[in-house]
Amino acid sequence: MGMLTRINRFLLQHSLRKRKIPLKLWHQTIHNMPLMQRYTNTEKMHLRLLASQILNHKLITPVKGFELTEPMQATIATQAALLVFGLECPEQDRSLTWLRNWREILVYPAPFHNGRQTTFNEKGLPASWGGFESGETHYQGGIIINWQDDQPHPLRRHANQVLLHEMAHKLDMLDGDTNGHPPLHSNMNQQVWFDVFSHAFAHLNEQLDQGINTTINPYAATDPAEFFAVTTEYFFEAPRILQRAFPDVYQQLSLFYRQDPLRIVI
Ligand SMILES: [Zn+2]
Repeated sequence: MGMLTRINRFLLQHSLRKRKIPLKLWHQTIHNMPLMQRYTNTEKMHLRLLASQILNHKLITPVKGFELTEPMQATIATQAALLVFGLECPEQDRSLTWLRNWREILVYPAPFHNGRQTTFNEKGLPASWGGFESGETHYQGGIIINWQDDQPHPLRRHANQVLLHEMAHKLDMLDGDTNGHPPLHSNMNQQVWFDVFSHAFAHLNEQLDQGINTTINPYAATDPAEFFAVTTEYFFEAPRILQRAFPDVYQQLSLFYRQDPLRIVI
């Protein structure tokens, strides 16, 4: 370990002393999160540090009279840490660069009404959705989720992880546009990303046009931004399904998130 890393680790431990997720709570949290099983003990230590840092830097605010307990806050922060596990290195950079465009997660107790009217595009897919939502993200502003849909549910047909979905939108917005193209790393190829995602998006839309029951949630066919957010949910929650349906998308997401959820998932 270099001197700078040592100093940074010391400063980080010092700044987190008051807000570090207590060990007992941490063990309870990861025990209830099946996705955590794919990480090694060392990686879990890194995730605890990252989740604590997220709790320290971001607000997790309950609304509509919801009672947000400490275990719930720890779960939300750990889900957020899981998404940026390969992107953020808290011991070297304490500023959470990839989470810089939001400060707050508003937590509703249940799906909430977004106050809009529904409009449809020429394919009959919703262009603007009015009704009850599980989550929402705005270019300026925070992330909105509801607690009911934030937890894995065995009866759901499709992967559904509302916080990961909304955070993917925020990553997408980092380079200005919400278009399914987040800022890529220097070892990635912009054209390959564009070709892979355009092809998969077109393929999903063709399947829907033909009335085929799609493997992944048809909501991904709404637009390229939703395709990126929905495939991010699958990448973490149901990686095998995504890898079978769209192997090239899985590979690009693996390069982007710097994680390979399939390495131990059978
Ligand atoms: Zn979305």
